[in-house]
Amino acid sequence: MTADTGRPPAVPAPAAPAPEGPAPRGDIVHFFPPTLFEEDRDALIRLVREVGLDPGQRFILGPRTAEFEDVLRGQLGAADVVCCSSGTSALSLVLRAMGIGEGDEVIVPAFGCAPLAASVVWAGAVPVFADIGPDTMTMSPEGVEPLVTPRTRAVLPAHMFSVMADMPRFVELSTRLGIRLVEDSAVAQGGVLGGVPAGLWGEAGVYSFVQVKTCGMPGEGGAVITRDAELAARVRLLRNHGQRPGQRFVHNTVGFNSRFDEVQAAFQTHRLPGFPARLARRARIAAYYTERFLPLADRGVAPPPPGTDGRCCYVYTVRADERAALRAYLGERNIATHVYYPRPLPAHRAFAPYARGGRWPHARAAADRHLALPVHHLLTDTQVERVADAVVSFAEGRPRRHTPTGA
Ligand SMILES: *Cc1c(COP(=O)(O)O)cnc(C)c1O
Repeated sequence: MTADTGRPPAVPAPAAPAPEGPAPRGDIVHFFPPTLFEEDRDALIRLVREVGLDPGQRFILGPRTAEFEDVLRGQLGAADVVCCSSGTSALSLVLRAMGIGEGDEVIVPAFGCAPLAASVVWAGAVPVFADIGPDTMTMSPEGVEPLVTPRTRAVLPAHMFSVMADMPRFVELSTRLGIRLVEDSAVAQGGVLGGVPAGLWGEAGVYSFVQVKTCGMPGEGGAVITRDAELAARVRLLRNHGQRPGQRFVHNTVGFNSRFDEVQAAFQTHRLPGFPARLARRARIAAYYTERFLPLADRGVAPPPPGTDGRCCYVYTVRADERAALRAYLGERNIATHVYYPRPLPAHRAFAPYARGGRWPHARAAADRHLALPVHHLLTDTQVERVADAVVSFAEGRPRRHTPTGA
C-alpha cells in the first residue's frame, strides 16, 4: 500500500508454494517500531540543550507546557487542557476533582487496563464492572444500566484498541440517571466520533502520551481535556499539591505531584504537526487489514467492526478462536503480535474484592481471543501485506464454521 495515495494496495498474487522446506521467514515485523523517534532525534537533542541552557531553568510546568496545552486547547476547542504526569494520573485527578471518594461507586469496563479500576480504588471509591460488547470490546451501555445504584456517582467508559466506546449512549444514560461521565480516551487522541473529538465526549477526558500511544513521546505524560473550566481549575490545583501557579507554598487543597516535563512539552509541540499523517497511515493499514479479514469470520478470525467514524487505530486486534495457533503461525513468519489483557479486570487478584460474584462473558471471550497485530506508521507496504497474507492463509487453512466468530 502506498503511503501517499491513501489507496489500499492491490491484492498481491498468491505466492507459489516453496519447493521444499519451510517458507522464508522474511525480515522481522516489529510490533513496536525500533526507530520510533529517529526522524525527531536531532530535534529532541536540540530541545534538551535549549531547556537545559535556558536562563529561566524551568524544567516542569513552565512556558513550554503552557504552550503545548494552548495548542491542544486550540485544536480541540476545549475549555481547558491540563497536562499531567500520566494518563493514569489524569484519571485520578479527574475523579478527585469531581469529589468522588468513599462510599461512591464508579462503573468501569470489565475488560481493559488496570488504571480503569485502580484509579477508582485510589480515589477511595468502589469500581463496579460492566461487561463489554462482543465485537467492539468497549463497555456495553445496556450492561451498565442494571448496575446503577443510589451510590453510583460516575460511569467511566474507555475507548479500546481501535474502537471508541458508544459515547452518544453514555451521554444519554449519564444525563438521564444524573451521574457523571468520565471518558477514558487515553488511546484515542485524534479519534473523532460523530464530529466530536475523543476526549470531549465526557465531562472530562484523558490522553496518555506514553511512548506506545498514538501521540506518544519518549517518557511519561498525560492530559485532562474538558469543556468545564471549573473542573479544569480544580485539576490544575490538584496536579501541583493544591498550589495556584505563581503561589508556591500556599496549599489550597490536598493534591498530588502530577506535573509535566518541559523537554517533553517542547518535543510534543514540535511533533504535533506530523501527528495527523502518522494517524492516517495507521488508519489506512487498519482499513486494509479489515478489508482482507472480513471474509474470514466463518473461519474463526474476526476483524474489528469496519468503518471510520469513532475509530482511533491505536492497536489493531482480531478475535481468533484459535489464538495460540494463530500467534504461533505468525511468530514462525517473524511477525510479532501482542496479547494485551489476558484476563478480565475482576479476574485479577488486585480487583477480585470488587468482583462480587459477577459474570462478564464477553470480557472473558475477549481476553481469551483477542490478538493485536502490528499497525504502527513505520510499517512498509510489503510488511503490511505480509501480515495480512499470513492471517488470511492461516484462516483459510481452518475448517468453515456454522456460526461466525463473535455471534
Ligand atoms: C494507557 C492507558 C491508560 C494509562 O495511561 P498511562 O499514561 O500509561 O498512565 C489509561 N487507560 C487506557 C485505556 C490506556 O490504554
